[in-house]
Amino acid sequence: MTRHFCHWPGCPVEVPPKLWGCRRHWFMLPGEIRAWIWKTYRPGQEITKDPSVEYCEAAAAAQNWIAQNHAHKDASVAAAAIKSVHSQEVTERQGKLF
Ligand SMILES: [Zn+2]
Repeated sequence: MTRHFCHWPGCPVEVPPKLWGCRRHWFMLPGEIRAWIWKTYRPGQEITKDPSVEYCEAAAAAQNWIAQNHAHKDASVAAAAIKSVHSQEVTERQGKLF
């Protein structure tokens, strides 16, 4: 089996193939990119290895966003971003997404 890691650059956390990345980094992405990835995700794509073009575009958009917003910031900035996420909202979204 192929091991699958969080798509966040440099993140060593191993996640199930159906998830984009670890929970911490997933919730650091803007809501619209998370919605885009989720909308274009095809159940089973991690088995068939043929994610849709749209999913690849969404994943690329996520990488671009990370490069523009986080690539040159240190870990303390990332931690502050996580704290700013409203916990109630996270709970709600986790119910939907996981
Ligand atoms: Zn991660």
